[in-house]
Amino acid sequence: MKNIKQLYSFIFVSIVLAIAYLFFSTAQIQQILNENVESIFIKEAKSFAQNINNNIKTVIKEDPYRELKENQALQKKMEHALSIIINDTFKYIFVLYRDSNGNYRYLLDGSKEDKARFNQRLSVDKKLWSSVYDTKVPLIINQKELDNLWITYLKPVVLNNKTVAIIAIDFSTQLPQSISNAIEPLNKIFIYIFIAIGVLIVILIYQSIRSIKIKKESITDPLTQAYNRNYLRDLLSNIDITKYQIMMLDIDHFKQVNDNYGHKAGDYILASSAKIMQNEIRDEDILIRFGGEEFLIFIKKSSVNSYLAYNIAQRIRKKIEESRFSYEDKELQITISVGVSCQPEHFKTVSLAIKYADEMLYKAKREGRNQVISQSTNDTTLLKKTNTKSINDVKEALEEQRVVCFFQAIYNAESLTVVKYEALVRIKEKDGSITSPADFLESITYTNVYNDLTKSVLESVFTQIKEKKIQISTNLNFSDILDNKIFDLIIHELELHKELSSWLIIELLEYELIEEITIVQSRLLRIKEYGVKIAIDDFGSGYSNYSIFKLLPIDILKIDGSLIKDIDMSETSYKITHSIILLAKELGITTVAEFVHSKEVLETVKMLHIDEVQGFYLAKPSPNIL
Ligand code: GH3
Ligand code: MG
Ligand code: MG
Repeated sequence: MKNIKQLYSFIFVSIVLAIAYLFFSTAQIQQILNENVESIFIKEAKSFAQNINNNIKTVIKEDPYRELKENQALQKKMEHALSIIINDTFKYIFVLYRDSNGNYRYLLDGSKEDKARFNQRLSVDKKLWSSVYDTKVPLIINQKELDNLWITYLKPVVLNNKTVAIIAIDFSTQLPQSISNAIEPLNKIFIYIFIAIGVLIVILIYQSIRSIKIKKESITDPLTQAYNRNYLRDLLSNIDITKYQIMMLDIDHFKQVNDNYGHKAGDYILASSAKIMQNEIRDEDILIRFGGEEFLIFIKKSSVNSYLAYNIAQRIRKKIEESRFSYEDKELQITISVGVSCQPEHFKTVSLAIKYADEMLYKAKREGRNQVISQSTNDTTLLKKTNTKSINDVKEALEEQRVVCFFQAIYNAESLTVVKYEALVRIKEKDGSITSPADFLESITYTNVYNDLTKSVLESVFTQIKEKKIQISTNLNFSDILDNKIFDLIIHELELHKELSSWLIIELLEYELIEEITIVQSRLLRIKEYGVKIAIDDFGSGYSNYSIFKLLPIDILKIDGSLIKDIDMSETSYKITHSIILLAKELGITTVAEFVHSKEVLETVKMLHIDEVQGFYLAKPSPNIL
């Protein structure tokens, strides 16, 4: 692209130079032609004058005036000789002498018409003529007459070392005019070309100013004037992260500003806070609007203490806390929380370093907000595995509504009719391909993006429940239930969709009999008040423990795929599954077999009186519920 542009510029400049060269060459050729024409005619005039001079010298002895006055026949004969030379070019040929008063008078005139009388006075430029008379040196007088050549050639007639007369030959030619006429159209063409080039240059300048403007707009967030995520995407591939520290900033309870004072007030707060941030950082630092009310700042490393990211973050936090934002007749006050990643070079990728700053921000939020948390650590867990998706990619997918749910049908084992669906989160890539959670969940855990994702999944699940009026289950971790923010979010969504909540099933993954199990217990009971069913996922593997039935209000048990997939071949799998089903039946819990991938597996679990079945043999996850 860059090379093509350079090539075009090179061609353009070459053409302009070539045309300019041609233009100046034409002018030069015209001048050379004119000079040549002039010298040819001068040469001819000189030779005529020489002949006339020789002629005069053969017939005049001493004093031309006296001798010609006395010999009119000679005068006539000589004038005839002059008149023969006269033509369109050599218009006037005459011989004058200087009288005692210094005036010039005719001796001979070659003209055929309006011939001057003998001794008639002619007014001439006396200074020039006298110089010829006195110096005895011929003179060319160039009378510029527009484009035409008009030259007078003066040659002294010297007898006995004394000037006795001057031969004058006036000649003019239209040739230069003709040359100029011939070249004129060419000059016009040049003028048009120069105008065209001028216009083209103006257009090009306008275009490049416009494209710079468009480029700037495409990387700038219009509300805050900070860079946007388009810019961040380019930055991620170019930045030398060893030279920066990273901080992630988020306005506390910003939603309340919107709710209490309106979206416009929210916008005003966003723009004003961004301005404060911009004022607190230097030109070499980079402010990016990461999302809604989240900002990312890359602080260029410096040996000066006050320029450490942590100190700058504290300054910004304090400035914002102390600011009073006047909006209409109200005075608003806000605080921000900040997470700092002091040693981004410890991470494999910039995205992981950003994720770390977001984790710190998350911590700052959980631990009370309006604070900066920074961890400069040699912790080796920092060098986590690189996911295929970065936190930035997930954030972008969320904002572009490319985080979607696929749905896999769950069937009644007896009737083989669909009774519910399991929602499975996916990212739809820009090229249409689908990325599964294993490739992106890890890069957002313990960050705000994870909460946004949970929210988005719950919303799309409720949308489907509303449309299809069918039970849908969604996956959550124990840690999600324990996380205040996510728990609040779940309750908030349930409140919002009260009438649909009884269609929702929450499948709990990665459960552990942790200390906080009582918190989980009470929170699940609270969730169940909305009619939500609780399922235990992947039972029979990992941390599975029978006391879970005592501790949690379980409605559904999903038996782990590792037991189901070979149940038609392995006696052990068969026996374990059998006992789990018997136990569940005793406790009044619905059983579901996952991973039903063949007819044989289906037949076997049916024999064990499983309630519901799910697996590729019956249906794969699909983007739509039919
Ligand atoms: P926390 O302290 O935990 O950060 O809570 P919060 O309310 O600030 O965070 P949350 O993420 O729950 O809410 C952010 C809100 O910001 C939700 C969204 O509607 C709002 N928002 C996002 N972008 C804009 C925007 O451009 N203008 C306005 N006015 N609001 C926005
Ligand atoms: Mg916030
Ligand atoms: Mg937020």
